[in-house]
Amino acid sequence: MKVAICGAGIAGLTLAQRLSALGAEVVLLERSPTPRSQDCMIDFFGPGYEAAEAIGVLPAIQEISYHVGTASLFDQDGRRQAPLPYERMVTALDGRLCRVTRTDLEKVLRDNLPRDVQLRFGTQVSQVSSGDDRVLVTLDDGEQLEADFLVGADGIHSIVRSLVFGAESQFLRYLGFHFAAFVCDAHDLTDASGQHYVLTDAVDRQVSLHALRDGRTAVLAVFRAADPEMPGDSRAVLRDVFGGIGWSVPDVLDRCPPAADIHFEPVAQVEMTCWHKDRVVLLGDACSAVSQLTGQGPSMAVAGAYVLADQLRRTSSVQRAFAFYERLWRPVIEAKQEAGRDTVDWLLPGSPSKLWIRRMALRLAWLPMVSRRINVRLVGEPPAVIAMLRNGSPADPADPRSA
Ligand SMILES: Cc1cc2nc3c(=O)[nH]c(=O)nc-3n(C[C@H](O)[C@H](O)[C@H](O)COP(=O)(O)OP(=O)(O)OC[C@H]3O[C@@H](n4cnc5c(N)ncnc54)[C@H](O)[C@@H]3O)c2cc1C
Repeated sequence: MKVAICGAGIAGLTLAQRLSALGAEVVLLERSPTPRSQDCMIDFFGPGYEAAEAIGVLPAIQEISYHVGTASLFDQDGRRQAPLPYERMVTALDGRLCRVTRTDLEKVLRDNLPRDVQLRFGTQVSQVSSGDDRVLVTLDDGEQLEADFLVGADGIHSIVRSLVFGAESQFLRYLGFHFAAFVCDAHDLTDASGQHYVLTDAVDRQVSLHALRDGRTAVLAVFRAADPEMPGDSRAVLRDVFGGIGWSVPDVLDRCPPAADIHFEPVAQVEMTCWHKDRVVLLGDACSAVSQLTGQGPSMAVAGAYVLADQLRRTSSVQRAFAFYERLWRPVIEAKQEAGRDTVDWLLPGSPSKLWIRRMALRLAWLPMVSRRINVRLVGEPPAVIAMLRNGSPADPADPRSA
């Protein structure tokens, strides 16, 4: 069986390893000429953590993970306003959480690829023609690839989705925020607070700083914006929106890298009525982005790839496997997306009173009942799908209890 996967991100890399291990001939097509360097910190837990354990990459992920210790929110005058009960969240998950950078996670997955996976950087899909039993993929240099099926794992702005399912505007649900992730040299700023992970505490916008091992700092900046249209000059916008915050933020803005090194995009989810068509299936953010604010996109990408590969292993018909994958995985995604929308106001309070309520809740987080409520809001209940597939239970996707 020959498989073409478009996108060597977290979902594409995971799926390539799984399908190659099942004996498929895998071609992995990546638009970027080299591994992408734009970075951010993510919390890797939940279904993706379980899937990584099942695949055998968890020890390598644990090795690259960061210990957070104490984390805090600071106001614009540099006063510590509330603790972030990060360790309690880790404890609530029985320690099954790794804080990692996106690029380190991608590297672990890339290093885990079997040698016979063809990973082709600097290659884009420009046309797709799918029939009942084959798919013909045309690349940007005119080369044509024939495969048993094509997987669109090319992220939130998927080209495969546009070519096969229609315009992006039909599928993106804008959540009302813009999001910037970049890495800069700002270690002294976190050191000054005595913590590796610090966040601002302001209405409608937030900057978080996480010190990296190599002496740099991963910065996430999120702010409310009514218009999903992205402004031209990301650095100017960041200076405009965050300039007034004070504390260490002006220093961070001064050290902001050139626009090309800033990952700047609208915060959005992807909602589709169907994730597959003929011999094409979508995976990860391409069909089911849960939003950058949840921090769970990478976990969902690894777990989704695990579910899809598992269904292809169990089912001889490719199209039935696609349908089973979607029936099993869609309820988990929809629950995460709903929770993601519900927690937006908690993560970015929209008024001084909401900000005050969050401060109070975080200050009381040492109380087990408050801590539990915060954890349930942020982490959610773990779905059973991965554990069920790992145990080899005869997954019956028709049974809604499977999710
Ligand atoms: C810099 C950055 C910061 C982020 N920060 C956060 C965060 O803080 N919290 C969070 O939850 N999520 C964040 N995300 C999103 C998160 O990484 C994704 O949710 C997750 O990686 C989903 O994995 P994926 O494989 O579906 O998509 P991606 O990881 O986006 O991978 C898609 C891959 O497809 C490639 N590609 C795109 N188009 C084409 C094409 N036409 N042809 C070939 N290849 C193509 C891309 O180059 C990329 O390698 C961030 C993403 C980036 C890039």
